[in-house]
Amino acid sequence: MSERKAYDLVIIGSGTAAQVASFRVRAAGWSVAVIDHLPFGGTCALRGCDPKKMLISGAEAIDMARRMRGRGAAGELGIDWPELIAFKRTFTDPVPANHERRYAEHGIDAFHGKARFTGRDTIEVGGQTVEARHVLIATGARPVPLTFPGAGHVITSDRFLELERLPAQVVMVGGGYIAAEFSHITARAGAKVTVLQRADRMLTRFEPELVGWLMEKFAEIGVEVRTGTAVEAIDEVDGGFRVRGRAGSEPTTVDADLVVHAAGRVPDLDLNLSAAGIALENGRLAHNEFLQSVSNPAVYAAGDAAAKGPPLTPVSSHDGRVVAANLLEGNRHRPDYRGVPSVAFTLPPIAAVGMSEAAARAAGLAFRV
Ligand SMILES: Cc1cc2nc3c(=O)[nH]c(=O)nc-3n(C[C@H](O)[C@H](O)[C@H](O)COP(=O)(O)OP(=O)(O)OC[C@H]3O[C@@H](n4cnc5c(N)ncnc54)[C@H](O)[C@@H]3O)c2cc1C
Repeated sequence: MSERKAYDLVIIGSGTAAQVASFRVRAAGWSVAVIDHLPFGGTCALRGCDPKKMLISGAEAIDMARRMRGRGAAGELGIDWPELIAFKRTFTDPVPANHERRYAEHGIDAFHGKARFTGRDTIEVGGQTVEARHVLIATGARPVPLTFPGAGHVITSDRFLELERLPAQVVMVGGGYIAAEFSHITARAGAKVTVLQRADRMLTRFEPELVGWLMEKFAEIGVEVRTGTAVEAIDEVDGGFRVRGRAGSEPTTVDADLVVHAAGRVPDLDLNLSAAGIALENGRLAHNEFLQSVSNPAVYAAGDAAAKGPPLTPVSSHDGRVVAANLLEGNRHRPDYRGVPSVAFTLPPIAAVGMSEAAARAAGLAFRV
C-alpha cells in the first residue's frame, strides 16, 4: 500500500490563487502540499495573460509600423508566426521548473496528477492518498462546454497559444476579451478573422461607447464582427470547416480553417466533490462570505474556481490572500471586489474599473461623465 501523507493544507491547483495562499500559510509554519495535473504555474503564466501578451507584442510592432507609414517608416513589416511562438516559449517554458523549485525551497510538497476527493478530508492523486486538515480548491476555470453539432472541431485558447502555424481563415466563437485580443493578434499576423458573437455587441463588460470606438479599429484591420449571431453547427468541408449559425431568424455561414473557442469559461470542478460533501449551487461551489464551503468547513475556494469575483488574475491573488488569512486567523476576512480594474489588450487596449455608467445610473447615484 502506498504511503499516506497528511498536511495542514492541501491546495488543488498551482496557479495564482494557489501560489499566494501556499506561501503565506507555509510561512506561518503549516505543512502544505500543492497538486496540479498540468505543468506548474497555472493559467495566467502558462496559458493566459503572459503568453498572450508576448503575442500581442508582435502585433504591436506591426500596428506601430503601420501607423508610422508615411511618417518616416517605410516598407511592409510582417509577423513570422513560428518565430513569435518561439519567442513566447522563452517566457513560458522556464515557468514550471521555477515554480517547483520555489515550492521545494519553501518546504511545500508538489504532487503531479489529477486530484479527486475520496472523503471529507482525503484526496487521491496519482494513486496516492493525501490527508488534509484543510483543502483549498484553486482549480481555475475551463472553457464552457459547447453542445452544438461539430463543437469538437473548436480549439481552446490553450491550443491557440501553442499553434505552430497560423491558418488563413480563423473564426472566433464568442465576443469577450479572448475573442477581441486573439482577433487583434491574428489579423495583424495576416489571417482573415470573423467573430461570431451572440450578444448585440462585443466586450459586454466594458463601456458601450468605448467598445464602439474600438469597433472602428476592428473594421480597419479587417476583422469582421457579426453580432447577434449564434453558432449552431460546424461541418467539415474540403479540409476546412463551415460554421453555421443564425443571425436573428436568418441563417448565416462562414468558412474557416480554424475555429477558436472564445465563448466563456466556467469553474473547473471535476473533483468528485460529492465524496467530500461539498455542495454546489447553480453549478458553482456554494461558499460563504469567507470563501469557505457551506457544507464542508474544512474546504475553501479561491480564484476562478470560486467564481465569486470576476475571472481575473488580481482577483485570484486577492482571494488567495483572503483564504490564507482566514485559515491562519479564523474567518475574519471577506473578499472585496470593488474597483477591480480590467483591460482588453486589443490595439489600442481599453480598460474598465468600478461601476459602469449604466450600473451607476441604475443605482440612482449622482455623478458626472
Ligand atoms: C487566454 C486567456 C487570457 C487571459 N488574460 C488575462 C489577463 O490579461 N489579465 C487577467 O487578469 N486575467 C487574464 N486571464 C484570466 C486569468 O488567467 C485567470 O483569472 C487566472 O489565471 C486564474 O487563476 P487561478 O489561480 O484561479 O487558477 P489557474 O491559474 O487557472 O490554476 C488552476 C490550476 O488548477 C489545475 N487543476 C484543475 N483541476 C485540477 C485537478 N482536478 N487536479 C489537479 N490540478 C487541477 C489546472 O491545471 C490549473 O493549472 C486570462 C485567461 C485566459 C484563458
